[in-house]
Amino acid sequence: MIKILNQINFVWLSLGSNLNYPINQINNAIDKLRYIPYTKVIRYSSYYESIPLNNYSQPNYVNSVVILNTMLSLDSLFNFIKIIEYSQGRRYNCLRWSSRIIDLDILLFGNYVINTSKLTVPHYDMLNREFVIYPMIELDSSIKLPNGLVIKDSIKFLSNKRVLLLKKCNN
Ligand code: ATP
Ligand code: CA
Ligand code: CA
Repeated sequence: MIKILNQINFVWLSLGSNLNYPINQINNAIDKLRYIPYTKVIRYSSYYESIPLNNYSQPNYVNSVVILNTMLSLDSLFNFIKIIEYSQGRRYNCLRWSSRIIDLDILLFGNYVINTSKLTVPHYDMLNREFVIYPMIELDSSIKLPNGLVIKDSIKFLSNKRVLLLKKCNN
């Protein structure tokens, strides 16, 4: 069952893929986000190429960030995200950060601060990830965390070595 709220929330998602033609996988996921009910894709960033976290020996990733607005509850939106991952062939294994066809993480959901066994929002590690921060700033240089921290200000703590612009967005 889906739960609809009586308010619209802006949601920021991080998308990543390093298997099976990653650019196509990201395109495909964005197309599918457009079919989530009570939800609208507002904008998405350019595509960035990034080196795997912890320098795992894997193909490089393609990443993008998408802004949605939605009337769905956080849980309902998350369920649709899981369906999109599954529909593109993502199957979970025990090894975290292993290569994947598609990964969609919720970075921000309105001004929610949530910490349950299923979801941590804002995403627990977003400020450490170049492939998240750079596309977010591309989309909105003044974007803030719920605690007021301006995300752009965290750039100085990043190494900037793990990401490069791959494909300029023309949306
Ligand atoms: P990371 O979370 O470090 O980016 P990952 O994306 O590879 O790693 P997954 O295996 O895709 O991790 O997800 C593990 C679990 O993380 C999911 O089953 C989900 O319940 C949980 N999770 C917690 N917070 C979030 C969030 N903000 N967005 C998406 N999943 C989340
Ligand atoms: Ca992830
Ligand atoms: Ca994930």
